[in-house]
Amino acid sequence: MTEIKRIGFIGLGVMGHAIADNLLTAGYELYVYNRTASKADDLVAKGAHYLATPRQIAEASELIITMVGYPTDVTAVYFNEASGIFSGISSGKIVIDMTTSTPTLAKEIATQATTLGVLALDAPVSGGDIGAKNRTLTIMAGGDQLAFERVAPIFSLIAKKAQYFGPAGSGQHVKMANQIGIAGTMTALSELLVYAQAAGLSLSAVLETLSAGGANTWSLDNYGPRILKADYSPGFFVKHFIKDLKIALDEAQKMNLTLPATQGALALYETLADKGYQDAGTQSLIKLWWGE
Ligand code: NAP
Repeated sequence: MTEIKRIGFIGLGVMGHAIADNLLTAGYELYVYNRTASKADDLVAKGAHYLATPRQIAEASELIITMVGYPTDVTAVYFNEASGIFSGISSGKIVIDMTTSTPTLAKEIATQATTLGVLALDAPVSGGDIGAKNRTLTIMAGGDQLAFERVAPIFSLIAKKAQYFGPAGSGQHVKMANQIGIAGTMTALSELLVYAQAAGLSLSAVLETLSAGGANTWSLDNYGPRILKADYSPGFFVKHFIKDLKIALDEAQKMNLTLPATQGALALYETLADKGYQDAGTQSLIKLWWGE
């Protein structure tokens, strides 16, 4: 089996741009595409090749990675009859969708990939913008185990942990479990800061102390300091977290589960989006209490 040398990367946002940059730095020949082409400019200046459609990316690359926003974007990028990945791909290649999307769509991609002799993985990530930049992501994969084994050296360049979980859709299910967890840690971070401030405590001292105790979380460590600096930039968009919580609750419903804490978090984030914060980072949840 030949070594992968040419990687295609579609979706150069907060996450995709940083991951693509790291793959370029690692020495891969990189072919890139993004809806807003200018987001590729600095990568092209460093040696990446910009191509006009996902189809051309699929033709040029042995491995194609997608990291777009919503399931509808994933569908467009893979299935568009004229310009999608599947319109141009040939057998023996590998596709990896790293977008946080639905398990159902992951299965549809895997089914079409199998028809074309292509290997597919759903491989959403956790670790945020910081993890993408610092190559410390966590990757949760489902789909073709052979593909996972072939791309393991590439995953090790961008992630501190990559785990295979089973058939197509499994990676997205693990990511939903992750987001259910983040719903709890973000609401907890907001409410503990609101409480601490009302009690007249030093918030920086509270964060420093709690991070050494039982209430420590990744959210507290990474987003607590951003809140104290009034840095509400994404990070992780409120609109994407709402997308994720809705997918998680849909999937839970299909399994006859009720998740009241996750439902509560979704309601809070929808209120936040209604107030105009959909394009802010998820740490802006605190604005529900602290206002402007
Ligand atoms: P983002 O900054 O909005 O990036 C998405 C990128 O995909 C944008 O550059 C967008 O283009 C591009 N795109 C969307 N539809 C496209 C299409 N049809 N063709 C080509 N490009 C397309 O979002 P992000 O923060 O990187 O997140 C990406 C995904 O990862 C989301 O599913 C998110 O839920 C997930 N995720 C995010 C984080 C995080 O902390 N940020 C962590 C884990 C997972 P434009 O430039 O034109 O908008």
